Amino acid sequence: MKKTSLTVLLLASSMTLFAACEGSNASPSPQTPDTSKPGNAATGTAPNGSAAGSTTTPGSTATPAPSTAPGAGSAANTGSTGDKGKGTETPKSDSDQVVAKPDSVSVLVNKQFALPSNYEPADLVYPDVPFIFKEKIEKRKMRKEAAAALEKLFAGAKKDGVNLAGVSAYRSYATQKAVFNNYVKTDGEEKAKTYSAVPGHSEHETGLAIDVSGSDGKCAAQDCFGATKEAEWLAKHASEYGFIIRYLKGKEAITGYQYEPWHIRYVGVDMAKEIASKGLTLEEYLNAVPVNK
Ligand SMILES: [Zn+2]
Repeated sequence: MKKTSLTVLLLASSMTLFAACEGSNASPSPQTPDTSKPGNAATGTAPNGSAAGSTTTPGSTATPAPSTAPGAGSAANTGSTGDKGKGTETPKSDSDQVVAKPDSVSVLVNKQFALPSNYEPADLVYPDVPFIFKEKIEKRKMRKEAAAALEKLFAGAKKDGVNLAGVSAYRSYATQKAVFNNYVKTDGEEKAKTYSAVPGHSEHETGLAIDVSGSDGKCAAQDCFGATKEAEWLAKHASEYGFIIRYLKGKEAITGYQYEPWHIRYVGVDMAKEIASKGLTLEEYLNAVPVNK
């Protein structure tokens, strides 16, 4: 977390209090460097979905998913996110694919699948919920449908005596680029990729994801949030409002990210309930698990 605060100081004021979370920090950890490369912007579904092997992940198939999966491009399997502490795989160059339907609420954005660099959601609004800051700025925005669901979620939590606050929601490609480039300056590209999303690859760019904390802002986007009653409530109830805990404990090798109990992602109620009840990641649900070994 030290890194965050230090780097945050260097960032422009529009990025005040940048929380952890994929794309902005998440403690530099023993993760395998991501192999995605920025600026690789083929449109539509990339054809090179060859699997380098088979995956043993539950709920997934070994072959690339057909591109009928909503929002997901074809699931090319390149070993990008690996086992913890490995970190020695050779980066591959063909892992970056641009999603075909960036506007889909089930769009898959991760270290493998990117949003087009010019993508900006057309329906961003300010959800009427408290944040840990007052300013009406970019990171307070979400797409309309997600914002409405978030308002219901916050209201539901409040009824249960749990007072939530938003920490960071939408982030534009330009902002993500600034954040990422800043880390690259400090740590170099390969290291930066282990804890920050390459522009286009942050789920916050979809306008469907938000980092949430308790209203006191304690442990905002930090590991200690996992032990709070707010985290417990989210894990139990977020799906009822159409949100999933996007980066699950024990699924780091699939999502490419450490456990982030504060990062919730809107996918709609039906999908969220199914994903939560089965304990899946979005990758597994969409049959888009990369080969890890
Ligand atoms: Zn996040």
